[in-house]
Amino acid sequence: MLNDAIIGTFKASLRGELIQRSDAGYEEARKLYNGMIDKRPLVIARCADAADVIHAVRFGRENNLLTAIRGGGHNGPGLGSCNDGLVIDLSLMKGVRVDPANRTVRVAGGCTQGDVDHAAHAFGLAIPAGVVSTTGIGGLTLGGGHGYLARRYGLTIDNLLEADVVLADGSPVIASESQHEDLFWALRGGGGNFGVVTSFLFKAHPVKTVFAGPIFWDLKDGQRVMKWYRKFLPEAPVELSPFLGLQTVPSTEPFPKEIWGKKICALVTCYTGPLDKAEEAIQPIRRELPTPILDWMGPMPFPALQSLFDPLLPKGLQWYWKGDFVRELSDEAIDVHLEHALKAPSELSLMHLYPIDGAVHRVGPKETAWNCRNAIWSMVIDGVDPDPAKAQALKEWGRGYWEAVHPFNLVGAYVNFMMDEAEGRIRSTYGDNYDRLVDIKKKFDPTNFFRVNQNIKPA
Ligand SMILES: Cc1cc2nc3c(=O)[nH]c(=O)nc-3n(C[C@H](O)[C@H](O)[C@H](O)COP(=O)(O)OP(=O)(O)OC[C@H]3O[C@@H](n4cnc5c(N)ncnc54)[C@H](O)[C@@H]3O)c2cc1C
Repeated sequence: MLNDAIIGTFKASLRGELIQRSDAGYEEARKLYNGMIDKRPLVIARCADAADVIHAVRFGRENNLLTAIRGGGHNGPGLGSCNDGLVIDLSLMKGVRVDPANRTVRVAGGCTQGDVDHAAHAFGLAIPAGVVSTTGIGGLTLGGGHGYLARRYGLTIDNLLEADVVLADGSPVIASESQHEDLFWALRGGGGNFGVVTSFLFKAHPVKTVFAGPIFWDLKDGQRVMKWYRKFLPEAPVELSPFLGLQTVPSTEPFPKEIWGKKICALVTCYTGPLDKAEEAIQPIRRELPTPILDWMGPMPFPALQSLFDPLLPKGLQWYWKGDFVRELSDEAIDVHLEHALKAPSELSLMHLYPIDGAVHRVGPKETAWNCRNAIWSMVIDGVDPDPAKAQALKEWGRGYWEAVHPFNLVGAYVNFMMDEAEGRIRSTYGDNYDRLVDIKKKFDPTNFFRVNQNIKPA
């Protein structure tokens, strides 16, 4: 049983903060990005450095506490927190160090996507990661990580060079191709199952001003756009990465009022090649498709693209997630997509297809824990709305849409696009890599101390 003396000793061991239920900041500190998830941990340890994380892991172990790791707190099912246990919150751990000569970026475990983009951009560099600046780099990386740079430079894990990890017994290790290679393999896609990563070292790439932005068509043109897109994308140069969305124009500035609330098929594009070649590269999108209702593609700094959606997606909205890996978009699948997109229960609800071909396919399925190296897209269906009263409708729409379209997709899904899924789903996602992940879990976390995640059980 925890008592004041035990808590007091733990608190004194930390450079960061310890937040308990009785503290004024508790309600704010426990909030997650997904407003649908309401968890009440016993204590939140806001760690300031790796030493704090070591103390926190030992404290959790010694007191037999359910322990969650929180990076950016963006996880759909709220796996960055837990009920009645300990949260190891990394949000104070923020440093980013760019080495321009070696083109590497060292990122502390609590950084967001925006922290990394901001720091790397000043050096004319970027790391391949996600498309929303508030997402935590920790959870995103460990699940795999994909965004606009994936086709050209691979997944986030394909650019991970090294990770500082605090293991389940509290010991710190460095994982890389030359140290604890098995752990390094498992971290690249295996999620938060193996330890707390306090620092990541990434390979960076020269990306500065990109030609990018959204282009929208009325959903009645959706079938034509999707059929064109399924053929165009795999043949497109890897410098060009358009993701496809079925969604609704939000009834808000800066969108033109006459299209507010319109159901659309969208492409959100990023071209990272030479700017003077950009217009030519995106020409087919403008030339071969029906007249769009909005075209905002143009040159912009990479971090501006990365934060384009931030104002629409503040913390605290209701989110219900379902995902799949997709290899083909058949005519039948497109019809199912369009039928369900039309029934979206809110303006923010969406379906996105993120490209994961190109450089992602150059890594073999056994080289990292991320097994699916033959999908063209990572699909996500998100029911999203500010109103908690809509939660049930968001879930029903998301599930219904997914059940209808899943038969056309691959068996697995991106672990970061899952809600509460059955164990079988995790297993099928990791495919042939699952047994090796179990062995590595047994070696580094035999008691399943880190189990607030898309869990790989040690037995
Ligand atoms: C608006 C939005 C946009 C998104 N866009 C993308 C996208 O473009 N591309 C993409 O790949 N994903 C995207 N995602 C999904 C995202 O990758 C996941 O939500 C991910 O879990 C976020 O990581 P986090 O650190 O914020 O999560 P948290 O909720 O803090 O943690 C989630 C999980 O990660 C583990 N974890 C986090 N940090 C660490 C760490 N340092 N060490 C060990 N374990 C850790 C925890 O155990 C926990 O299980 C998006 C999510 C949202 C909400």
